[in-house]
Amino acid sequence: MNLFGSIEAGGTKFLCAVGNEKNQIITSEVIPTTTYEQTIKQVNHFFSVNKVSSIAIGSFGPIDNNKNSDKYGYILNTPKQGWSNVDLVFPIQKELDIPVFFTTDVNSSAYGEMHLNSCDNLIYYTIGTGIGGSVIQNGQFVGGVGHLEMGHQMVKKHPLDQDFNGVCPFHHDCLEGLASGPSIEARTGIKGENITSDSYVWDVQAFYIAQAIFNATLIIRPKMIILGGGVMYQDHMLGRVKAHFKLLMNNYITIENLDEYIKTPSIENNCSATIGNFLLAQKLLS
Ligand code: ADP
Ligand code: ZN
Repeated sequence: MNLFGSIEAGGTKFLCAVGNEKNQIITSEVIPTTTYEQTIKQVNHFFSVNKVSSIAIGSFGPIDNNKNSDKYGYILNTPKQGWSNVDLVFPIQKELDIPVFFTTDVNSSAYGEMHLNSCDNLIYYTIGTGIGGSVIQNGQFVGGVGHLEMGHQMVKKHPLDQDFNGVCPFHHDCLEGLASGPSIEARTGIKGENITSDSYVWDVQAFYIAQAIFNATLIIRPKMIILGGGVMYQDHMLGRVKAHFKLLMNNYITIENLDEYIKTPSIENNCSATIGNFLLAQKLLS
């Protein structure tokens, strides 16, 4: 029986997992993200003990996943120290000598959700330390010369948020600058997980996330939009986002069932990324 590898490469940890053809996790290990060399060494050690036929990596970014590029397989200009401009794919592929698929973390999550929802036209946004988006259309990732950068789209300001500059180092008040987890802390001095549900910030956040869904709806016309990431752990957020989306859309496009259209991930702890990676690894062999 073939086994498949998943690497969720994050800024704080690399989650390595081995799965079977039914996408069941056989074994897994959390490797802390330390130096580039040390982390790769530990990843390679895990998969030399736990052998697989192919691997998919879903990585924090930005990354170069354009096969025609000289820098294919690289993590590009990330603020994460020591990880800018490093080759993630080649040292793993060379050491393990198996096919490796390379994509963004949010693409992996979207791919898993496609499978779990039996829906091959969907969008996945993660609202966490950063904001990322993935579009799957007719079962394929959308992207041209590079992966999508939907987290940095422009949004209009909430009336209660006029004085806030935003936290994106590149654009200040783009979506990520205004609605990521760190933006909540920058406004209030308190981490999102410690703020009560009656704070004004939640409605401000929801207003921005709803705009991202509004834009994606008009540009892509997906069947569903999944919202993952730490900020969505607030159980009142989904309802707030739907309410703002409804107001923004103003019946221009009819969405038959809003509860089926805007959802949180089907499984917890970002497991959709692991399943997505198993499927992407499996696809490399077909
Ligand atoms: P990452 O994006 O780093 O992979 P997360 O998706 O967990 O990880 O996002 C982390 C961000 O989400 C942090 O800014 C954190 O403060 C925020 N966050 C985590 N949990 C919650 C919560 N329950 N409510 C609101 N914000 C949260
Ligand atoms: Zn930005």
